[in-house]
Amino acid sequence: MQGSAQSGLNDAFGRTISYVRVSVTDRCNLRCTYCMSEDMQFLPKAQVLTLEELERLCAAFVRRGVRKLRLTGGEPLVRKGIMDLVRALSRHLDDGTLDELTLTTNGVRLREFSKGLAEAGVKRINVSLDSLDRLTFARIARSDCLPQVLDGIAAATDAGLKVKVNTVALKRDNAAEIPKLIEWAHARDMDITLIETMPLGAVDEDRTDQFLSLQAVRQELESFWTLNDSPERSGGPARYVRVAETGGRLGFITPLTHNFCDTCNRVRLTCTGTLFMCLGQDSAVDLREPLRASPEDDLLNAAIDRAMAAKPKAHDFLLPVRGAQPAVARHMSMTGGCQWPEHGKVGISGQVRRDGARGSGGSGLARRGADLVGPAGLAGRESAPADPGDGRHAHAPGAESRSGARPFARPR
Ligand code: SAM
Ligand code: SF4
Repeated sequence: MQGSAQSGLNDAFGRTISYVRVSVTDRCNLRCTYCMSEDMQFLPKAQVLTLEELERLCAAFVRRGVRKLRLTGGEPLVRKGIMDLVRALSRHLDDGTLDELTLTTNGVRLREFSKGLAEAGVKRINVSLDSLDRLTFARIARSDCLPQVLDGIAAATDAGLKVKVNTVALKRDNAAEIPKLIEWAHARDMDITLIETMPLGAVDEDRTDQFLSLQAVRQELESFWTLNDSPERSGGPARYVRVAETGGRLGFITPLTHNFCDTCNRVRLTCTGTLFMCLGQDSAVDLREPLRASPEDDLLNAAIDRAMAAKPKAHDFLLPVRGAQPAVARHMSMTGGCQWPEHGKVGISGQVRRDGARGSGGSGLARRGADLVGPAGLAGRESAPADPGDGRHAHAPGAESRSGARPFARPR
């Protein structure tokens, strides 16, 4: 008996939840400056759901009408046994209960996994790529991995996977490179989505130094390209245009400057089994305890129902203020990923919590450990100055002004 298992997932504002992003690990083989601090504390493995538990949770969501699952992290491809999970979930594709199984990856290990992903029924993946310049990439990711990522993208394409590029727009680091990244992606028949930095979790830098308004980026692109609005919507924060000159699709994810909440169709599950109903709020329900308390899904479904009822109407993000605390304490790598040490105390009832507590991180300081295929060193990390002054990472003209910025020049 599955209780309310057969009912679909609707929240209090009439939105149907059909998409779950599942973080399979909080660990990562990179340390992107906007995402993590360099000495990021990771969860002890004991707190993380097993692959079997992740599979069971996903299956419960699929039974409740979820049609799309995205595996993410941390870096999903550093989770041991990840392909076992992918293959297990692909049975929902086979029986028609799931429309799409996909993942978001930094691409470092894609060469190894592309073929297996395609064979398991994955059709499209998102690959994060913030720069095509090796030094710039190394500075942003704190790892000299651009060659592996480009090779991984090539392998994915060869395997028949459709790749979408995700690029976080960073005022200091890659603003001048944005047109080139767009041209690069479109020349390879890949969509590209630009993302504004979001104030999630503490990082080593002040985010106001990195924040680049995509409104300004769009304005600048429109000074030399024709951007035609595209009706395509993902139910998420992305808005799309078609670039007439390149023929490719370009997305803008602007959580800080554009309200996308009315059509939100998604929730986020951390690798510890915490369900976040909104990227920009700390409301969360623990699913791990009900999952572990019974082999039946009644308790789990009841907790999922409570989560749906608690999905907030809109997120809380504010434009970054210099020196301010992050709007949301957890890092992006926690949704997936979560470092609440007292996670188990949330209670079997799946209490909604809004404390946004950050954990001490426990003992799992996994710094590119042996089980993680890490970068081949940190060339460029210590050596790359914050601004090499050679024009490649030049401060965007007008970058000090958030509204009137001219982030880059027309590409040659
Ligand atoms: N490691 C994988 C990757 O980088 O693609 C998957 C997880 S990562 C958290 C998912 C996406 O979130 C990436 O595209 C990354 O660039 C983006 N991201 C991480 N922290 C962010 C932040 N503070 N603001 C905006 N985007 C962020
Ligand atoms: Fe970078 Fe993704 Fe790792 Fe965060 S989780 S450090 S965005 S690769």
